[in-house]
Parts: sequence; C-alpha cells; structure tokens
Amino acid sequence: MDEELVGLTIDGNYVKVRKGTTILQAAKEIGIDIPTLCFLKDINEVGDCRMCIVEVERRKGFATSCIQKVEEGMIVHTHTPSVMEARHIILDLIISNHAKDCLTCTRSGNCELQALAEKFNISNIEFTGEVSNHKIDDKSPAIVRDFNKCILCRRCTATCKNVQEIGAIDCVERGFDSCISTTYDKSLNDVDCTFCGQCIESCPTGALHEKECINDVWVKLKDPDTYVVVQTAPAVRVAIRRRVWNGYTE
Ligand code: SF4
Ligand code: SF4
Repeated sequence: MDEELVGLTIDGNYVKVRKGTTILQAAKEIGIDIPTLCFLKDINEVGDCRMCIVEVERRKGFATSCIQKVEEGMIVHTHTPSVMEARHIILDLIISNHAKDCLTCTRSGNCELQALAEKFNISNIEFTGEVSNHKIDDKSPAIVRDFNKCILCRRCTATCKNVQEIGAIDCVERGFDSCISTTYDKSLNDVDCTFCGQCIESCPTGALHEKECINDVWVKLKDPDTYVVVQTAPAVRVAIRRRVWNGYTE
C-alpha cells in the first residue's frame, strides 16, 4: 500500500513527506537546520526547551517543530526575525542559570549549549538574579554529576528509562527547584545505576561526565615501583596493575 503523503511549504520550498512526520524532520529532509536542545531522536521528543519553535501561517503563537506534525497545505517559516528573537531569549534564560566555567569544562568545544551560544552570538547575559547552587555528586567511581550545568532537557532520564530500562534518575521538584535526581536524592553510587554511561552520551552539556583519572595515570606512569602494562583493545581503555608475585611487586 502506498504511503500517505502530506504536502507543505517550508521557507518557500514545497515538500511532500510521510503523514506523521514532524516539521523538524520535514525541514531536515530538505536541508533546513532548525536548532534543538532537548530533542533526541526516537528517545526524547517532548518539546520542552522550545529552541525549535517555528512560525506557521494562520496559527497563533509559535509551533514546537520537534513535536508538531505536518499538515496538508501548511506554510512554515523557520527563521523569521520573531522566531530568531524568541530563540535568543530562550538561550539567554537557559544560560543565565548555567555555570560559566567553559574554559575548564570537560565538554568545552563539544557542548551543544556552547555551540548554540556561539551561533546566536550571545555575548552578554541579559537576565541576572538567583541561580541554582547544586552540590556536585562525584561519589560514583565512574560518573560525575554537576547540575549547575544542567538545562533540564531530560535527555538523560529518557535514555535511562526508555533505552536502558533502568530508571535510576528522574526529574523532581517544580519550577526553579526542578532538578534531575534519584530516589531520596541519593548519590548515583547508591541507587540502581549500572554505570552504563548512556546518560552521559545523551547529555548536551557538561552536567554529566565520566570520572577521568588521567592525573592518577601520570603518577603511576612515573612511579618506578610500578610495572606498566599497555593493553590495546577495540574500545579505548587503559589498565594499570601492580602484580604481586611471590611476595614481590612487579
Ligand atoms: S549510567 Fe546508565 S543506569 Fe546509570 S543513570 Fe546513566 S543511563 Fe541510567
Ligand atoms: S543532566 Fe544533561 S541530559 Fe540530563 S537533563 Fe541535565 S542537561 Fe539534560
């Protein structure tokens, strides 16, 4: 049976796409890039951050393109001055409550928020006031959580729940107090987390990152009493082991 197609116009381009396609996906199919932050294809399609807003003719307000399905005859504008201004304000608001230590952040140069700030030429933050002050959770042997860099996109919770089927983390509290947490706000080390690291992969900022031990490795490498074994494998991994043999260390 032929797939049902829907015709619409995006930024002056007439396009036919499968019924059920979102505006975001339809735009992508013809090479139009709409910025996103909370969107994670097939995992977190919730329209929370509103970076992907667009204008649809004969509609009031903005449409959230990552969840709005295409309709026959729709006329969409993705980069009008009002859309760009609204996205700028959204970014300003997000960054106003975000730690600003990009220089030393593990995700610097690989951060979706930083990339958008550059793209939108955010040079000073217009909104000032109260900011969140979360304590960093680095109790786990593998994962560091710094929610002073969290933008509440919920990509991590959706990944943990829907992909890994663990559900170790969720969004708690409301309004300004909203944050990603665990049962009774315990450390990740003390809940059902398997340390698979998939939440880190899905995080667009430096709010979640691997615990790195590079300095410890340097110390071990320089230790004349440590026998260093280099191990290559398909995955990037390093192991240092002090071998005890007949009471001697090698
Ligand atoms: S490491 Fe895996 S199990 Fe733990 S919170 Fe992240 S996604 Fe969930
Ligand atoms: S920790 Fe990262 S992925 Fe999770 S809500 Fe915050 S910014 Fe999004």
